[in-house]
Order: sequence, then C-alpha cells, then structure tokens
Amino acid sequence: MHGDRKAFSPQSFNRKSVLIDKNPAIVFRLNIFSAGKQAGILVLFNASGIISRNRIILFMSVTERFLKYVRYDTQSDPASETFPSTPGQLSFARVLATEMKELGLQEVRIDEYGYLSAYLPSNADREAPAIGFIAHLDTSPDLSGKNVNAQLIREYTGNNIVLDKKDDIVLTLEDSPELSNYVGQDLIVTDGHTLLGADDKAGIAEILTAVEYLQDHPEIKHGKVCICFTPDEEIGRGTDHFDVRGFGARFAYTLDGGEIGGLEYENFNAAQVELVFKGRNTHPGYAKNKMVNSIAIANDFLNSLPKKEIPELTSGYDGFFHVVSIKGNVEETIMKILIRDFDRERFEWRKSTVENGVRDFSKKYGLNIELEITDQYYNMRERIEPVRFIVDIARQAMEEVKVKPRISPIRGGTDGANLSYMGLPTPNLFTGGHNSHSRYEYIPVPSMERAVDVIVKIIELCVKI
Ligand SMILES: [Zn+2]
Repeated sequence: MHGDRKAFSPQSFNRKSVLIDKNPAIVFRLNIFSAGKQAGILVLFNASGIISRNRIILFMSVTERFLKYVRYDTQSDPASETFPSTPGQLSFARVLATEMKELGLQEVRIDEYGYLSAYLPSNADREAPAIGFIAHLDTSPDLSGKNVNAQLIREYTGNNIVLDKKDDIVLTLEDSPELSNYVGQDLIVTDGHTLLGADDKAGIAEILTAVEYLQDHPEIKHGKVCICFTPDEEIGRGTDHFDVRGFGARFAYTLDGGEIGGLEYENFNAAQVELVFKGRNTHPGYAKNKMVNSIAIANDFLNSLPKKEIPELTSGYDGFFHVVSIKGNVEETIMKILIRDFDRERFEWRKSTVENGVRDFSKKYGLNIELEITDQYYNMRERIEPVRFIVDIARQAMEEVKVKPRISPIRGGTDGANLSYMGLPTPNLFTGGHNSHSRYEYIPVPSMERAVDVIVKIIELCVKI
C-alpha cells in the first residue's frame, strides 16, 4: 500500500545544545513516522563526543494515550474485599508500568495493593523539592466501563450530540449547557452505553504525556517528580494503603478535577451519625400512655434540625444535615444522617446540635436513644494553608499557559484531603472532563492538552522555590 512505502522515512532532524548532568551536551532528535504514528530517537552526545545516553521514545499525544486507556475496564467494586477490588485495575496498571519504563521513569513498581508508582529523577543543578502527581486507575461502579467505545467529535458545532441514534441517547445542551464553551473544539464522547472513564484516565494520560514532554525537552530543568496511580478511589479506598513516606514527595497534586481551570484545595469536613430510637410496642387498641412509637419520635427528631440546612437548599460554602436513611418499626427505628461543613467550628456545632437533641429527646420521652458519630474526613484547607505556595504555584502555572484558574470548594471529599492529613499536602487539578460517572461523560481535547501544559509548568516553577 502507498502508506506502507512511506514507513519510517525521516521527517525531521533536530539538534540542540543542552546541559546534561551539568555538562554541555548536544541532543539530536530524529522524528520518524509510520502509519500515522510518530516515534522519535533521542541521542545525546557529551562534550568528548561519546554517546552518553540514548533512548527511544514513542511519542503519543495525550489524546492517543487517553483513547488507549479507556479501552481497559477498570471499574472498582465496593462489594469486593480484595486490593485492588477488581483484577482489571491490575491489568491496566501492568500496561501502564511497561509504558512508564519506556518513558525512562525509575523504580516503576506495582505494590501488593495495586498502587503503581515511579519517579522521574531530577536533572536540576540545584536543590529542588520532590513533587508528586497522582491519579486513579479505577472508574466508578455507577455505570459500566466495559467495552468503552469512545467517539471523537471533530470541531464541535454547538448542537446536541447524538451518542446512539438507534436508542435515542443524546448529550443535550439543555442538560450540559457548558458544552457551548467548546464550540469548534474536538470532543471525546461515549457511545451512550458506558461511562467514558475520563475520570480518571484523562488524569493518567495527562501526567504521562507531561513526563514524555520533559524527557523530550532535557533543557527544562526539574526536581524529582514522583508519580502514583492509585486503585479504588471511587469506592473510598484510594488512600487506604498509600505509602506517603515511600512516595517521597514534599507535596503533590491529584489530577482528578473537572472543567478546565479547576483548582481545588478546600473540601467538606464530614461526619456520619447513626441514631437508634428505642420504642415500646403494645396492642394499638390499648396503647394509651403505654406505647412509645420510635418511628414518630425519629420523625420529630428530624424535624427539630434546621430545616433549610439540607443538600437540596444549599450551595457554595453552606453546610448541611442530610438524612440518608430511616428504617424502623414501632419498637426500633435506625436513622442515618450525614453532616457536612467547610468550617471546622460550624462542623463541631452541627455535631453538638445532634448530641444535644438526643439528650433533650431522651429526657422528653423517657427513652433510650443510642448515638454514634463518626468523623469521616476533614477539610484539607487546614493542611494546605501552611504551605499555601503550592496553590499559588498551580495558579501561576495556569496563568502562564493561558488557562483561567477557577478556584472553588469541593462539596464532597477527595483523596487529596486524606493525603493532606496523612502528611502529603495535595490540592486537586482539573483534567478537563465533564459529567463524570455517567453515559454523558465527555472531555474536550484542548482541555487535556492544557492540563499537560499546566503539569509541565508546575514542575518547571517548582525548581525556582
Ligand atoms: Zn475521580
């Protein structure tokens, strides 16, 4: 075929002078193309003319990487008791490990729990902090991630996007009005039957593409860059076995955010409340002054909490009480309430409101109410504030690559919150994805490309700390 005859013809031959390990060197980059794939041979000569290092890099764009990764089914499973929860995550980690070795990363390792880690050694001639980048291997249990059939929409025109004509599955502007921000851009969408997995395979693709860029540009000086891809984030176990000491970074960033420009370093303080109301049952015909109906008391208790402080009436920095389940009969009613607040004092106030309520109700009805309050996670802001410069660096990096930073609080939790409390301050950066955990998930290609730029720029800026 005509295309084959052209295979591996040199397309360009670049030469530039750089400093390798503080010594002047010359790097030649030979770009070759085969069947639309770009590969490069990077050859480095030191001053005495001896080849000091050579390496073959398979250049892949962030889009190519992403489209390759979404084909691996890595859905996590909350019912599983293994680490990682599903074997697909491990298979995917092995594929990535091979790729990371090819990229020249050091100590590429998958540990017994399925955490994949590696690092890019420093090439700087001065002391620079080791920084980390983290993304997760798994996809949400909410929707299948098997046989993902991603579609690339070239130059989006601004109309509704038909994902599956036969089944009439449409990504609409009505439901996703922010689509109109991406007119003229290339978008990646699903076929309407699975999630896409941009959450968080886009994060992985962006981190590794940034590494490849740095390897291809040895003139960019950087400190040690630590990388970890974690299993089971979506089922809340992403940091259970994260080895902060072994990771070796002073601070890190998760690539697990949404829309372009996203930069997050605040999240809820969270607690879970379980209440058991003990009633007394009698024959209803002869119940006067005898029966104590635990359902009715639980209902009264719920009504005693601030009525406007619930998820459906709050946003921004508001906190809430959120009743998630009531199960019961006359004898016994079990109620579960989630408490969320950004402010630590308000968070404590919410917990004591429940405690005081329990005391008052016990007295009023002369009955036993069991109460258990469990703290789930805390606002990472407390741990980020003392190292505020890590947020400033991310913001500056975005501005330098012409991305408008969008700083907002996460109305939920994030792995970075746990990591921050484990001693690794970790704000969250955008991946560019939208509508995660759903069949309407999509990601604009330029948003992924800007995420790569932001990572490279952060790494560059950190040498100057
Ligand atoms: Zn995620």
